[in-house]
Amino acid sequence: MPTSPSRRLALITGASLALVAGCGSSSDSGSGGSDAQSPAASSKVAVVASTNVYGDITEQIGGDKVAVTSIISDPSQDPHSYEASTQNQLALSKAKVVIENGGGYDDFVDKMLKSSNNSSAEVINAVTVSGKTAPKGGELNEHVWYDFPTVAKIADRIAAALGKADPAGAAAFTKNAETFKAKLTPLETKEADIKKKHGGAGIAITEPVPLYMTEASGLVNKTPEEFSHAIEQGSDVSPKALQTMLALFTGKQVKALVYNAQTSGSQTQKAQDTAKTAGIPVVPVTETLPKGKDYLGWMTANVDALASALDK
Ligand SMILES: [Zn+2]
Repeated sequence: MPTSPSRRLALITGASLALVAGCGSSSDSGSGGSDAQSPAASSKVAVVASTNVYGDITEQIGGDKVAVTSIISDPSQDPHSYEASTQNQLALSKAKVVIENGGGYDDFVDKMLKSSNNSSAEVINAVTVSGKTAPKGGELNEHVWYDFPTVAKIADRIAAALGKADPAGAAAFTKNAETFKAKLTPLETKEADIKKKHGGAGIAITEPVPLYMTEASGLVNKTPEEFSHAIEQGSDVSPKALQTMLALFTGKQVKALVYNAQTSGSQTQKAQDTAKTAGIPVVPVTETLPKGKDYLGWMTANVDALASALDK
């Protein structure tokens, strides 16, 4: 586990080719992801997604008619501190469809797209599609892929963009998007079930990653704002905010700690240890798709883990 990594999005064009050589490849996740350089792939719609979350959703919708490059797909890599590579720059220069998260999460996509002189790609910005904005006096939670109604909208947008790039495939893309969206419905049902059983229960988080899911499940985030904000920014939590956080566990104010397993540091570790000692279940979540899972399987596991932690 890296200790307090720099959490700022870093753009170092041309650097770190070796670092991302294993994750810039499109071919490691099976369906649809084939080598964009091979002749057979030339008829496929070239897509670049900022993370493998959107990459996987695109593959579900595009099937074998798309060649997807996910810029970030290594579960041990923190998307907040991504360093750009020339390999991804090249993929972006050829992309017909680009899916970025937006909301400050992956500004490197826009920067790289600009410097690759690709002005014709259709760019889908997930935060824009979500319609979500910062709450009054607060900050936008940019982790919109934990919000299933938003993901349904994104699926439609992806199908439309792919259909524009490959009109012959448009009907299939629309049908695949419908199939995908139908599988989101049980996830919303699971959230509603949690709400029925545990609505109003307090939870703590280390970062806002899972908040759309916990809110839809009727749970109340009791984390001191200063704690989760500092963790997300990669800065130190004040001793006072840390004490307030730890008191949530020792005082049994919360029923679970939903923990971002992708960004650990000594203070989040302390929170996790304190929760465990106090008998508060810890639910790990991640920013990007874990190896061997697709989006729906991953989110099903997340919601199920939350439900079973609360049932304890
Ligand atoms: Zn995050």
